[in-house]
Amino acid sequence: MSIKIFNTLTRKKEDFKPLDEKEIRMYSCGPTVYYFAHIGNLRAYLFMDNLRRVLKYNGYNLKHVMNITDVGHLVSDADEGEDKMMKAAKRENKNPYEIAEFYMNAFLADIDKLNVDRPEIIARATEHIDVMEEYVKKIIDNGFSYQTEDTVYFDTSKLDKYGMLSNRNVDEQKAGARVEFDSNKKNISDFAIWIKAPENHIMKWDTFFGKAYPGWHLECSAMGYKYLGEQFDIHTGGVDHIPIHHENEIAQSKGFSGKIPANYWMHVEFLQINGGKMSKSLNNLYTLKDLEEKGYEPLVYRMFNFTSNYRAQINFTFDAMDSAKVALNRLREGYLKHSEGLDDIEDSVIKEYEEKFLEAINDDLNMPVAMSVVWDVVKNPVKSKKLQNLLLKFDEVLGLDLKNYQKQENVLPEEIKKLVKERNVARANKNWAESDRIRDVLIEKGYTVKDSKEGTIVEKQ
Ligand code: AMP
Ligand code: ZN
Repeated sequence: MSIKIFNTLTRKKEDFKPLDEKEIRMYSCGPTVYYFAHIGNLRAYLFMDNLRRVLKYNGYNLKHVMNITDVGHLVSDADEGEDKMMKAAKRENKNPYEIAEFYMNAFLADIDKLNVDRPEIIARATEHIDVMEEYVKKIIDNGFSYQTEDTVYFDTSKLDKYGMLSNRNVDEQKAGARVEFDSNKKNISDFAIWIKAPENHIMKWDTFFGKAYPGWHLECSAMGYKYLGEQFDIHTGGVDHIPIHHENEIAQSKGFSGKIPANYWMHVEFLQINGGKMSKSLNNLYTLKDLEEKGYEPLVYRMFNFTSNYRAQINFTFDAMDSAKVALNRLREGYLKHSEGLDDIEDSVIKEYEEKFLEAINDDLNMPVAMSVVWDVVKNPVKSKKLQNLLLKFDEVLGLDLKNYQKQENVLPEEIKKLVKERNVARANKNWAESDRIRDVLIEKGYTVKDSKEGTIVEKQ
């Protein structure tokens, strides 16, 4: 069955045709490691993992590269402001290499907890300066750049078209610019590809341009080229990469080889919090650790992300996390229920579930529909090992680690269980006063009580 992918380049859902039938080559823009990833960032890597798993489920092998940006990413994507690593180094009174090491490891630990499969190649920018230098020199030789005293700029006017992903022309970019544009640039869309390091800059290398460092956009182009060649299949990132970072990657690749580097460009939409933006100043920026401290295991956040398609914004609320927690629990219980099965089930029923699931995931990763098939399997009244195995197979895509799930002993003491039962009866009778009273008793006894439309969870505080 063919896989359909929404391609930002053509703004259409297309049948996916790999360059090589056996191995898909793919590049994902990775994190800039100057601080802890927030849960919005992590959505981007859950999407990346979802895509990996769907491709593998379809029988493909992967050669997948993700970069770690540990130098060169200035505070704004459009090359303004300080280097993010240098800024963090000042903030924490460390050197930028220590910052990179620490936050890279924190990031990898987070994605491991979320059961994100690590890409085959994780490429750190600072370990690829030679490839970047080779790449930038060829862009210069091909006549796509100009130099000022301290910067090599990419000259976007040399391209037949700049802006093919976001479909914006240069006038629109001027209108949208937030700051006066750097007067050293010939065109507003030009960008730095190689930058002379100021005296106090710790991350710098001896290069054709003196002591210098690479521009952020150049890193991805050069590392993608090194591992995947001039052209590969899929390039992923967040929607914020469309108007600048990925336009610039395409520009560089055209300047380097004359080609668009990837055939399919996929972008994940943003996570919102309570309908708005996440930000430190609003005090609503959460990390995975914050969620854990609030009693949500990381896989609950993974489950939460399946409630929306990656191309739609998703709204984070703790109510939605509570529902995801109940749902994950229900899936695990359903998985165990089927392991007790003796009755058998027709193969045609299994086949039908499989087809529906495959159709959903191959429709541009339609996870909400795929999950509805999962629930049909869970709820099937016939207990059957075949259904359990089917859930295990689906879990190759879901990544919820069902195979390692063991029945949790119900640790609630009898007295508490009795109160929970009484409260459930009160709720069923819409006797809210009684239900609230019992909840207060439970809280007093040291238990948290969370109601959602999926059910109630009672846990020791
Ligand atoms: P950065 O480390 O800042 O380069 O960002 C890492 C990734 O997180 C990028 O792919 C961004 O597109 C993505 N990202 C940033 N904020 C959000 C958000 N609120 N929701 C989803 N993805 C985001
Ligand atoms: Zn990138």
